[in-house]
Amino acid sequence: MENTSLAIVVPCYNEEEMLPSSLPVLLATLNDLVARNKISADSKLYLVDDGSTDNTWEQIERACSDHQGQVVGFKLSRNRGHQYALIAGLENCVGDIIVSIDADLQDDPSNIEKMVDEHHKGNDVVYGVRAARDADTFFKRATAEGYYSLMRRMGVDLVFNHADFRLMSRRALNAMLEYRESQLFLRGIVREVGFPSSTVEYDRQVRVAGESKYPLRKMLSLAWSGISSFSTAPLRAITVLGICASGLSMLMIVWVLGIRLIGDTAIPGWASILAPLLFIGSVQLLSLGVIGEYLAKIYNEIKQRPRYHISEKRGSIK
Ligand code: UDP
Ligand code: MG
Repeated sequence: MENTSLAIVVPCYNEEEMLPSSLPVLLATLNDLVARNKISADSKLYLVDDGSTDNTWEQIERACSDHQGQVVGFKLSRNRGHQYALIAGLENCVGDIIVSIDADLQDDPSNIEKMVDEHHKGNDVVYGVRAARDADTFFKRATAEGYYSLMRRMGVDLVFNHADFRLMSRRALNAMLEYRESQLFLRGIVREVGFPSSTVEYDRQVRVAGESKYPLRKMLSLAWSGISSFSTAPLRAITVLGICASGLSMLMIVWVLGIRLIGDTAIPGWASILAPLLFIGSVQLLSLGVIGEYLAKIYNEIKQRPRYHISEKRGSIK
């Protein structure tokens, strides 16, 4: 209740067009919750600049000096990506409950109040779930839905249509921070952590300014990182593929020998050699590729490199 402090963590990458409209809304949300005794007066907004190349950091600095004691800014030493900017904010914030939200207001901050209410009912994690995704393009919606069901089928527990808009209690966040993997897929880790949870449904809005920082390439990379961090199903699929391929090859061999031994026609020639050759060759390459991906994953994890570096701090976290 009124003695529960809230930390809102916002990753920002080249958001100079968005911050002038989103900062006032986020601050108003915070002030309103304080005024109505839902959270304590020392609640704060944490803005993490993910190595932006535009004026984002200058705007964050200004917000920190205009709203001292309420806004804290961290600047990462370079662009690391959304998940890393998020973990930097989560690791360095102070608060009894922590909400992560994007800087572009696509996830409406008015839902934070519902999340806080859900928390007060005894939930450690409250997932923001996109009920309607009309604001997203057809392509984004279709790929996202396909992805969530693929993950489900591979045995990965994800909350359907939940991205990274969520509330966590201090104990749930601390548990999540114990996961030290360097390749982050936070929405997967949070399910591993457990604790009582509930959901808040909302309609996703269109981005009103600036453009999406998630082009197809980054989306695919996050999607693959999610699969390879939480499932070894692709390795199992290779085994199945291998079994099928060798079954097919055996049939082919029986057929070829049959023609040679029983029939009197000579083997027609290169087609029967080339087809299995190409088939087996491509299966082998594909398999090596998938095994390589997991090997690369081990290689990257074993180095245990730091996940980010903070180069500047503004505002006080006390
Ligand atoms: N973001 C970030 N680093 C990046 C890319 C994005 O911190 O390398 C932030 C971005 O500023 C925004 C959030 O992550 O606050 C989500 O990005 P975006 O809105 O572009 O993604 P989309 O909503 O299109 O999936
Ligand atoms: Mg967005």
